[in-house]
Amino acid sequence: MNEEQTQVSDTIDIKNSQLYISDIEKLIKNRQNFKYYYEIYNDELYSLILLTLSHKSFNKKEAKQFCKEIFKHKFFLEKRLHRDGGVCLATLDYLYNIKNEIYKPTIMEEKKSDFLTDSSTKDGLTNLYLRDIFDVFLKKEIDLAKRKNTIITLALIDIDDFKKVNDNFGHQKGDEVLSKIGKILNDSIRQMDFAARYGGEELSIVMPNTKLEQGYKIANRVRKKIENLKFDGFSITVSIGLSQTSDKILDSEKIVSCADKALYLAKEKGKNQVVKFKF
Ligand code: GH3
Ligand code: MG
Ligand code: MG
Repeated sequence: MNEEQTQVSDTIDIKNSQLYISDIEKLIKNRQNFKYYYEIYNDELYSLILLTLSHKSFNKKEAKQFCKEIFKHKFFLEKRLHRDGGVCLATLDYLYNIKNEIYKPTIMEEKKSDFLTDSSTKDGLTNLYLRDIFDVFLKKEIDLAKRKNTIITLALIDIDDFKKVNDNFGHQKGDEVLSKIGKILNDSIRQMDFAARYGGEELSIVMPNTKLEQGYKIANRVRKKIENLKFDGFSITVSIGLSQTSDKILDSEKIVSCADKALYLAKEKGKNQVVKFKF
């Protein structure tokens, strides 16, 4: 992995993990809590904890060792300080002063860090994730699906006759359409799903742990919501191509190209519909 990819995946993991510092404090204090998260993430829990604490990726083995040492260090500091300094202080002292694992750390409120993460990973017009982030996320989810033996469904969405909207109502109106569709996508997807701006007027939804039929229902729901949007003097429809991972579709390039073929068919069959890729 090069430097740039590491940064992108670091950002992405933070966004999707939904683990907060307060959760980590609870994990350290309460075994039941630890068990709850461990059942979900297994050993990846340690990488996740460390990522939340340091915004940096560590492999599972390293993360497990560092986490255990940070927890011990937290208790050590508590004894020396005669008060609980918290897990952030322990992490900073351990990774920065003892291990030299982080370079030039900074202090920032979580809200501001969330804002910076969002503005560097999302497209300003649609508020959907950028293509680069989509690529990393899809690859990561496909790897995870292979390991856990689950299925991912991918939806590629293309606005029908969008050029006419720009030509007849102006580019600004076209931008408004894109922005409203982005909001529908963000409002419609489930917590585990991931919506991105794949290209100009092409959008996408990655649906982890979702079979094609279930993905079909979700995609149709989105399609209908878009069809029901009201604009001055016109309405908008989209075509959607779907494909799922299988023994023949094992990587991100393949799942995208199959969804693209299904999208092409949806256009050919008259637009405003969802088509599933079949061999
Ligand atoms: P089809 O139903 O076959 O998809 O027809 P279409 O007109 O949507 O397809 P085409 O690919 O020919 O046109 C896509 C248009 O999307 C062309 C481009 O100007 C417009 N577009 C892409 N990105 C943006 C954007 O950010 N804002 C606006 N307003 N238009 C955009
Ligand atoms: Mg297009
Ligand atoms: Mg189009």
